[in-house]
Amino acid sequence: MSPHPRSVSRLFDWAYHKLFPRRTSNQPDPEPVITDEFDISDITDGFYLYSLQETQRVASRNQRSTLSTDGSYVTARMDQLLDQLHFPTTLYTVGSIDWELAKTSRAMELDADGLSEIQFNSIIDVYTKVYAIAKLMSVTLLSYGVEMDHSPHGLLANIEHAESIVTTLSANALIECTEKLYYALYARVVIEMANVELCSSFQTDIRSLAKREPYILPHPVQAYKILLIFKEALDSQKVCSGFDKRIMRQYQEDFVTRTAPKCIEAAQVTDDFLGYRRHIMGVLTDSSSLFRVKWAGLSEMYKMPPGNVLMVLSEKYLPFRPKLDIQYDILPRDLPFIDVTAVDSDKWEQRRIRCNRDATLAKLESRGVGEVRQEKYADCLMDYLKEKKCVCASTCECTYYCTYDCERFCPCSEYVMRIMLAEKRKYPGKHSFAIRCINLANALFEKLATMRTDIPDSELNKEGERAIQLLEREVRIQRDAMAMTY
Ligand SMILES: [Zn+2]
Ligand SMILES: [Zn+2]
Repeated sequence: MSPHPRSVSRLFDWAYHKLFPRRTSNQPDPEPVITDEFDISDITDGFYLYSLQETQRVASRNQRSTLSTDGSYVTARMDQLLDQLHFPTTLYTVGSIDWELAKTSRAMELDADGLSEIQFNSIIDVYTKVYAIAKLMSVTLLSYGVEMDHSPHGLLANIEHAESIVTTLSANALIECTEKLYYALYARVVIEMANVELCSSFQTDIRSLAKREPYILPHPVQAYKILLIFKEALDSQKVCSGFDKRIMRQYQEDFVTRTAPKCIEAAQVTDDFLGYRRHIMGVLTDSSSLFRVKWAGLSEMYKMPPGNVLMVLSEKYLPFRPKLDIQYDILPRDLPFIDVTAVDSDKWEQRRIRCNRDATLAKLESRGVGEVRQEKYADCLMDYLKEKKCVCASTCECTYYCTYDCERFCPCSEYVMRIMLAEKRKYPGKHSFAIRCINLANALFEKLATMRTDIPDSELNKEGERAIQLLEREVRIQRDAMAMTY
């Protein structure tokens, strides 16, 4: 299976209206109209008039040739038309009809030399954003232990391909990669949103067992909000201006076809000790359940898999312990934390007094201690962090405990340190692009995962956008480093 090009008739329709606005004797030219349906009889006269004028022009230059023969005439004129349009005039977005037409024309080879700098950069921008979202999505899935198969049309294979061409100068390669990754990602985001929402309908208190653990995965309700951030970023007009549901549905069907046999097998051999599966089958067989009503109503964007497949897919979001087995770029023991037992006692006492002062001020102002430090000591946050003292925003769930127990080592220190080191990074360094990105994406996901659930969604959205931007920065660092070697 592969994504289909946008229909030729639609491209033709657009091109026709762009170049041949229909004329009536004394009327001004009407605005070009883009329609989804193409009716050949509707344009025959316009096309004929244009052809006639062209024929006369060509004849006057004595260049009449095979173009004027009956059967091949329309085709030849169409080729000539496409030649005129073979370079886009707009900035690149997925599904842009201008760029689709350029790809469909005979002159398909686009490279950095054939485009303006701003156009080439627009391709990089979309590639970068889609890759950043895909990397965050992959870490989200892997954290829950959701499988990412290596199928050529799966999300993982497309991410790996995007990483393999991160420094390419070929506009064609970037566009092809971006569009495949975009639809593979979009399809998966929608599927997983349904899975997470279904899982969230199951009420259980098993997560309370993990209250003392430093980091637990977000509740399915919160995970749904995170996936929604990814979807909304993909829906941006700056990323995609011509969404093709048909392509997305193909990726979804491909995923379900690949996954269904394993799910059916898993449904037969695993126990239902929590009663989750009975609950889910009840929801799925009840045509009036909120889940059924919502997702059946979204049939253009999502086709519900068989019940036992959906049951197993959604069950993946029950666990609360992260399952991502990451290959570190910097081992935890090599992160620049200070060994507190080796610090001079007088100096440590001074630091302790300062921490108490920060916490007292935070309590007086009803804020988190990390927020106070962000505001008052922005230049030396790393010093606090090296001592594992809290520098988190008040939107982090550690805030209360870190403020009221200022001796506490902030449980967020490791991921905050990784994010801060990435923010300071200007060059790729010795680790591969893929390894750096998965480490950064994992740290950013932990940050999203540890945000308080009682804050407005806008705060989570803001942090999600910031996470995407930081991963985009990593792509730019890689490309800039490549550019400097030339
Ligand atoms: Zn903290
Ligand atoms: Zn925190």
